[in-house]
Amino acid sequence: MIKTMHHLPSDGSKLNVCAYARVSSDRSEAEMSLDNQIDYYTTLILSNPDWEYCGVYADEGISGTSLLNRKQFKIMVDKALKGMIDIILVKSISRFGRNIVDVIGAINKLRTMGVEVYFERENISSLDVTSTIALSMYAQLAESEAISMSQNMTWAIDKRMKAGKYYIPVNEMLGYRYDSEGNLYIVESEAKIIREIFSMYIQGLSLLFIARTMMEKGYKTGIGSSNWNEKTITRILLNEKYVGDCSMHKTFSAKLSARTQVVNRGEKDAYYVKDGHPAIISREIWDEACAIRERRRIQFKHEKGEAKAPFKEESCFGVCAHCGRNYFIKRLKNGNNIRYTLTCSANKATLTCRESESVFVEDLKDIILAQINVIKGDMISFKKELKKAFILDTTAIQQRLDEVNNRINEFKIRIETPSIKIDDAFLALKREILKEIDNLMIEKKALENTLLTQSNNESMIKEILESAEKLSCTDREQKYKFFFKKMIIKSRTDLTFIIGNDDVSKLDLSNLPKLFKGTYKIKVRAQFYTVNFGVFFNA
Ligand SMILES: [Zn+2]
Repeated sequence: MIKTMHHLPSDGSKLNVCAYARVSSDRSEAEMSLDNQIDYYTTLILSNPDWEYCGVYADEGISGTSLLNRKQFKIMVDKALKGMIDIILVKSISRFGRNIVDVIGAINKLRTMGVEVYFERENISSLDVTSTIALSMYAQLAESEAISMSQNMTWAIDKRMKAGKYYIPVNEMLGYRYDSEGNLYIVESEAKIIREIFSMYIQGLSLLFIARTMMEKGYKTGIGSSNWNEKTITRILLNEKYVGDCSMHKTFSAKLSARTQVVNRGEKDAYYVKDGHPAIISREIWDEACAIRERRRIQFKHEKGEAKAPFKEESCFGVCAHCGRNYFIKRLKNGNNIRYTLTCSANKATLTCRESESVFVEDLKDIILAQINVIKGDMISFKKELKKAFILDTTAIQQRLDEVNNRINEFKIRIETPSIKIDDAFLALKREILKEIDNLMIEKKALENTLLTQSNNESMIKEILESAEKLSCTDREQKYKFFFKKMIIKSRTDLTFIIGNDDVSKLDLSNLPKLFKGTYKIKVRAQFYTVNFGVFFNA
């Protein structure tokens, strides 16, 4: 049944992994120098083919007990919460923080975003729900500093954690909850809905029909909405948790916000746990549903082996500027005349997004051609604007990095030069210099991280320019979603095409500045409208 995961289109992307390093200024513990910690983690991450290197963040723990002065820590957590990091590697819990409230608070915040913190020494993953108790125990130890944490220390609790326990995020999912002890249990009233959905599906009923039935019955979705659609149903039908299985990477590396689709399809079969928790539906029903899905998939397959769902390009392309929801394809029949529009999905069953306007699919094809022509008509400016949007001026950063490197070398020479007198004064000076080196290493790492993000952006620019080459100025039926990631629909006469990052959830959709603007006249009933379109670079 592992195969069902692969139904989802794979983007083959890697897991974003970073590390966090910290040294305490007192050096009371036997610890790796910051330099060594950074080297160690850089090598560790870079040598794993499934991992994308996202930097090593490093702080010097001044007093060690508070998160207040930890600049790099804050930058890292911020990035992780924005979905830019999947896993954070830390040597030990005491590296992560000395204050139990801070540590647990940070871990919980990260966990709700599906970000894993892995503590190497303790061998604890923060996504393991059973680790909560152990984590607070260790954090308490780290806080008191009374007991040194020996690697040989065996905790009974460790064994339970290693027994393949895992954490299922249930917040936005029907059917399961955790009790106060962290045990997963089935919520019967919700499980009933899940069973109904599966049962209707294996009877051959369509996704749309099932969605409508759910609405008619007044059921609520996992996020508490009474709006059901094909996507909500599909997500349930594809969720292996309901048969008692768990594919770890799928859920864990994904952002768990309601609107973002779960994306990391890491193909990590090794992390597929079968019958790991109580099932809501039987394996027979699950298998049957998989078989039906496979049959339907083949039915929709094109001769060339390509899925030929109608309006493949248009679906999930439009995003409502008013409510942020996707636009869906709606069929309009007027006598014998059938037309298709893109309509805000908030208005699928009832009119809830009043400000949104529909766009005819046929018109859209012409508008897209017009937009492509504007861009291809001035590729020099396009390239220039693209660079402006995606690349910071790195000269200053590079300069500062050179300075820092020189300083580090200067200091190193100073402490390595044999001194005539190795007295207390010299040792004090040496300590000062070592501290200074540590500070510079932190700054160096931060600068390198910035440069690294820049090189990612450079490859993105290259990709965008290459795909621009592939666009046709005349083909109305061409594919365009590899280039325009989304289209923000403010009104039927105000469209903005997104280039770059396809995550638009952080943008102010009703207020996007447009570049490469153009207009296009369309006729709706007896009236002519001028559509204003343009491009927004989402860096
Ligand atoms: Zn809307």
